[in-house]
Amino acid sequence: MNKIINILRFINGRRCAVCGCAIDLMNEIELCSLCYSGWLRECEEVSLNPVSDIKNQMSLIYLTYYRINRDTPSKSMILALKRHNSRDIYNFLAFNLAETLKKHYHQIPRNTIIINVPRSRKAIIKYGFDQAALLAHSVSDMMNLDYFNVLSYKSGRRLIQQKKLTLEDRRLNALNAYYIKKKNIIKFYGKRCILIDDVYTTGATLAACAKLLTDNGAKNVDCAVIAKTVKS
Ligand SMILES: [Zn+2]
Repeated sequence: MNKIINILRFINGRRCAVCGCAIDLMNEIELCSLCYSGWLRECEEVSLNPVSDIKNQMSLIYLTYYRINRDTPSKSMILALKRHNSRDIYNFLAFNLAETLKKHYHQIPRNTIIINVPRSRKAIIKYGFDQAALLAHSVSDMMNLDYFNVLSYKSGRRLIQQKKLTLEDRRLNALNAYYIKKKNIIKFYGKRCILIDDVYTTGATLAACAKLLTDNGAKNVDCAVIAKTVKS
């Protein structure tokens, strides 16, 4: 399969996953040098990891920023991750997240597992995949940890988009949006969980999912995302 993909790349020419410009066939990553240096610059701006999110009572690790009011390589990659099922993008982001997590933990505690925040059913129907699940699965492979998809989105409820709500309403909406099937509890009971999502905005979704996991027996939950939303 890889051979066929490489032949197709050769015929079509390899393209930067962010800006679409042609890149060298020998490039190890699917980014042009300009986009890659932009990504690195933004990652270097993140000075503190992990962050203690006191408001949401959780520990958060993130790699870069999702800038609402500016177009950056990091933002383009997040949008591509959400909209296109691109193995190149999620493998690149998963590799960077896995390396940061390895640095943070030094020695990964025993009984650590990887879990993802599930995408809404409506978004899965629209885009055809769950980006946080792809990311979490890749991270677990790279860290040699077990991955479990144990959180479920309540499909019967009327979907209210988080971005249209106030902070307090986001918290309540998030707390009501997810559930855990009883048969899945054994997969994380007594375990340390790394909960993965693509973007942190207010932390309401991650906090709600972390609470569900600890309320149902997880020993500890750390959160890890690609980007933290900032306005500037
Ligand atoms: Zn580029």
